[in-house]
Amino acid sequence: MLAEFDIIRRCFDRPGLAAPEDAVVRQGIGDDCALLSVPPGKSLAFSMDTLVAGVHFPDTADPAQLAARALAVNLSDLAACGAEPLVFTLSLTLPAADETWLAAFAGGLAKMAQAYRCPLVGGDISRGPLAITIQVHGLVPEGRAILRSGARPGDRLYVSGSLGRAGLALTLLSGDASAVPEAIRPTLLEAYYRPRPRLDIARRLAAHVSAGIDISDGLLGDLQHICERSGCGAVVRAAEVPVDAAVLEAAGRERALALALNAGDDYELILAVPPAREAAFLAAAQGQPVPLTCIGEMTAGDGVTCLDAAGLPLVMTGHSYTHFAESS
Ligand code: ADP
Ligand code: MG
Repeated sequence: MLAEFDIIRRCFDRPGLAAPEDAVVRQGIGDDCALLSVPPGKSLAFSMDTLVAGVHFPDTADPAQLAARALAVNLSDLAACGAEPLVFTLSLTLPAADETWLAAFAGGLAKMAQAYRCPLVGGDISRGPLAITIQVHGLVPEGRAILRSGARPGDRLYVSGSLGRAGLALTLLSGDASAVPEAIRPTLLEAYYRPRPRLDIARRLAAHVSAGIDISDGLLGDLQHICERSGCGAVVRAAEVPVDAAVLEAAGRERALALALNAGDDYELILAVPPAREAAFLAAAQGQPVPLTCIGEMTAGDGVTCLDAAGLPLVMTGHSYTHFAESS
């Protein structure tokens, strides 16, 4: 068993994970507070997420993967605001100071921290049921953050990448592997444990969007947040939604579409684009690592309506989408 200070020194306060002190990070791990000097013209963006064992992940989850996911989902919130990562803090509640678990956890965290240039500046450790809280801090040019509240009727709706892999991974993790071919399981689990926060894409496109959000709870549910904050409605054309090809093959069109629309955990971005900015948005979207797909528009109504290829409304029944008329 390691003492708290040994854990911090051996696992967390080390090169490759702990923030070196510089003009912005004036004090990292080791004092009562970390200190940041926010550069002139920038706002400090921060966001926090907690993952609890048995609620957000299985108790047996691999510690390195868990660490990567915990940081990635936080970084995705920075992406959704168009902010660039700066530093993070970590609060760990542990049932026991298991050295092997901690070393693997810190290793996974360090890899992610390096990949996204977001080192650790402090935290807390306590004893209790396993839970991981991360708070990320980022910088965004003042007045230029992407908010949920900026969309207007007529704005075009774009989504990054493709959807559904993390959702199908969750069915695997919850023990139902029967419907998922062996060959695609590793890519599904990778999508779940290592979502790619769309930081570069968001920063490159920020000047051309009116609102945005990252997809943590499902495309339709998260789009609803944009609607509420912006005081508009939205129409999504199901046939245009980029459903992941592997999910389509494994789960079939209906189930795959339901996962893409509702399952969440993909951490792609929904961006609203004013028509006058669309050409510039599409030009900036060229050459991005994943495509940006137009899936619908903001409307003058309220709430999200999902339409099929013929323009008829679809509603969720059980695990798939059907026409309202047929299900009622
Ligand atoms: P305090 O008693 O003032 O709360 P602690 O003894 O908890 O301070 O922590 C000592 C230092 O180690 C602080 O700088 C704190 O931010 C850092 N620290 C504690 N836990 C972690 C952790 N899990 N990861 C990184 N830094 C940590
Ligand atoms: Mg103190």
